[in-house]
Amino acid sequence: TTHTNYRTLEREDILALYKPRNRFAHKGTYGSVLICGGAHGKTGAIVLSSRAALRSGAGLVTALVPESGYQVMQSSVPEAMCQTSGREAVDAIQNWNKYTAIGIGPGMGTTSDSVRALSDFLEDCKQPVVLDADALNIIGRHSDLLAKLPKNSILTPHPKEFGRLFGENTNSMIQVDNARIHAMRYNINIVLKGHHTAIINTEGECWYNMTGNAGMATGGAGDVLTGIITGLLAQGYEPQAAAMMGVYLHGTAGDLAAKELSEEAMIAGDIIDYMGKAFLSLA
Ligand code: AMP
Ligand code: MG
Repeated sequence: TTHTNYRTLEREDILALYKPRNRFAHKGTYGSVLICGGAHGKTGAIVLSSRAALRSGAGLVTALVPESGYQVMQSSVPEAMCQTSGREAVDAIQNWNKYTAIGIGPGMGTTSDSVRALSDFLEDCKQPVVLDADALNIIGRHSDLLAKLPKNSILTPHPKEFGRLFGENTNSMIQVDNARIHAMRYNINIVLKGHHTAIINTEGECWYNMTGNAGMATGGAGDVLTGIITGLLAQGYEPQAAAMMGVYLHGTAGDLAAKELSEEAMIAGDIIDYMGKAFLSLA
């Protein structure tokens, strides 16, 4: 049966994927990220994703946020550049072809402006993108967009978002099989988040991640993952590799944070702060 076609993600799997930095690198070597979302009242989601993309090694990071998020982004993430579109929610995704990797959705909102921005973007874009949060909620409500997803894109739903996309099921085995069917049908990678996040590639192969802890059940933890995966994609990791490494490192950083701060006290920003130690744990 299809139930047997999965394995656990081991440290050795990540070591085999990991490409240490070239000493002659310049910032162009490690790609340019565009991270898009952050509607009024949810600017923090893009702050977290942008910082996470930087901490995962991307050369350059640009946030695309509405006007309402501009000052916040510029002052809280000085390492990132900032573009704006729309007043309170992003209403167009422009100049996206300048970027090596694109992540869309954290705090984006699901107003008609954002729906149009996303569907116009998906109409044109052919490179694999990372889609999370409200981008997934929009696609869940406009299922015609599924057929427009660039091949090899990475979708990172939590179980609720997954349910809106592909149907709910309380049995996680059945849910993962359903994810495998849709990953193959649409040629996408699905990162089904949870205690043991499942990473499913376009062939329907599945890996379960074993890092991470209940301290990560806190607002913004998923936005951090989106930034990490997009940052890895920008550096030239293949989508499946970026998803595997991103999920593993995100969980490892969460475990290191919990060890020093407790599962109770840790917050999403701490996962970003422990990314350094997570990378060092690969050495
Ligand atoms: P989101 O729901 O989008 O904020 O994403 C939450 C992130 O934290 C995902 O990457 C989850 O895998 C992770 N996470 C949440 N709760 C747990 C848990 N109990 N154990 C391990 N990881 C978790
Ligand atoms: Mg989320």
